[in-house]
Amino acid sequence: MLKVEHIGIAVKNLAASNDLFAKLFGQPAYKQESVESEGVSTSFFSIGQTKIELLEAMHADSPIAKFIEKRGEGIHHIAYEVADIEAEMSRLKGEGFILLNEVPKKGADNKLVCFLHPKTTNGVLVELCQEIRA
Ligand code: ZN
Repeated sequence: MLKVEHIGIAVKNLAASNDLFAKLFGQPAYKQESVESEGVSTSFFSIGQTKIELLEAMHADSPIAKFIEKRGEGIHHIAYEVADIEAEMSRLKGEGFILLNEVPKKGADNKLVCFLHPKTTNGVLVELCQEIRA
């Protein structure tokens, strides 16, 4: 793994949280994007070498809605950048980690992503992400 690419934070109200985090960081989000397949609206803030991703549920069936229902707002996942997502997925599978998707899927911010089940990672939802190369 190359670095912590971003930290995902589940929020109830993206517009309100965009204002809050813009004040916290002293700069606005550089992008907003919805990922229909995941049922989430996201925004991204750039902080030095890493990013903060805010996630709001688009509907009640969204994994983010379920997360907030169970655990409240807060840190939802940590995303690690990898050079070759398929190689890393098969390596981690071999190490006994449970992958939540068997093939990489298209995530926000021009990334291929794969999530690891938190029960195999000490309760932390882990995202692997790889930049989609043109
Ligand atoms: Zn993420």
